[in-house]
Amino acid sequence: MKYYVDEHIKNTYRVFPQQGRYGYHRFDMNENPEGLPKKFVDEVLKEITPEFLAIYPEPDRFLHKYADFIGASYENVMATNGSDMAIRYLLETFGEKGKEVVTVSPSFEMYWVNCSILGLKHVPVAYEQDLTIEIEKILDAISTDTRVVVLLNPNNPVGNVYTEEELERVIERAKEVGAVVIIDEAYHYFYDRTFLPYALNGENVILLRTFSKLFSLAACRLGVVISNPEIIHYVKNGRLSFDVNSIALLFGERILEHPDLINDLIRTEKEGKAYILEELEKAGYVCRDCRGNFIFVKPHHDAHEIAEKLEKEKKVLVHAYGNELLKDYLRVSVGSADAMKIFLNAFLEADRQEEE
Ligand code: PMP
Repeated sequence: MKYYVDEHIKNTYRVFPQQGRYGYHRFDMNENPEGLPKKFVDEVLKEITPEFLAIYPEPDRFLHKYADFIGASYENVMATNGSDMAIRYLLETFGEKGKEVVTVSPSFEMYWVNCSILGLKHVPVAYEQDLTIEIEKILDAISTDTRVVVLLNPNNPVGNVYTEEELERVIERAKEVGAVVIIDEAYHYFYDRTFLPYALNGENVILLRTFSKLFSLAACRLGVVISNPEIIHYVKNGRLSFDVNSIALLFGERILEHPDLINDLIRTEKEGKAYILEELEKAGYVCRDCRGNFIFVKPHHDAHEIAEKLEKEKKVLVHAYGNELLKDYLRVSVGSADAMKIFLNAFLEADRQEEE
């Protein structure tokens, strides 16, 4: 043996995100295709001085503001380098090697990827053919070996949501077996309802939010873990000292200070989504409002071929699936109505050309 490599890391199969997306119309990764207003960005950038860059990151000012913003205390929140890092921390802290993590499938893939890296047993609960999920199947999947249950509300990519009663049943079942429940609210603001009170008042509930979606800061990497002080304490114990950079924290803080900006972002994206769904339906397409900043559309022709054509000929990126349940759909991120017009024209032309 040349050297030791952790067997779980060695055996994990990774597919890393596509590079070279600058200059494309990006509807493939649930970012805001247009980003924050340039004037706002320029103002914040003025604060980045040599001194600012020389000092190690200090997340507390952001965290106090964020806690106020959601009506919680400082002890309820911690910042992470995107939800990506929060997922890793939570599975490291509350997962146990060889024991189980229950998620639905298909879902955001970093849950199973981190299970594989950390040697946790991933227990996926499959969607039904009609893209609904049966809560009984999630409850049945929770066993005495379960350490973590993950619910995305709404789910990426399918877009289903849970009722309070369903969540309460999952929380109770998780409690019986000594598991925590992670609720991933990456798409909060596109879907208004929240399970925040369960995270603040519960014993075993953890909520995740990200600044990559509505707040349009995917490049900065900023996520927040929200839970009771005891859970936050344990997660902080396992964290790296300087895991969130100062630029992300500064942008996060400035966004929170501008409710007008947040409202504009919400309005713009809601308008864009209503526009694209209406236009696609008018043009005879089957669509699905996935309740996040993304929709599904079923092209008349092979979804993978259309995605390829859009990329090569129109410089438009969308997401196509290998999964049997989703293979006929394209997932399209939503932005302003102007951004959606770019997608719509390219898509209609590409799908029409396939006919010729
Ligand atoms: N959770 C869900 C449900 C997501 O869809 C994504 C990103 N697509 C993330 C977490 C990761 O977000 P971040 O950019 O904060 O790492």
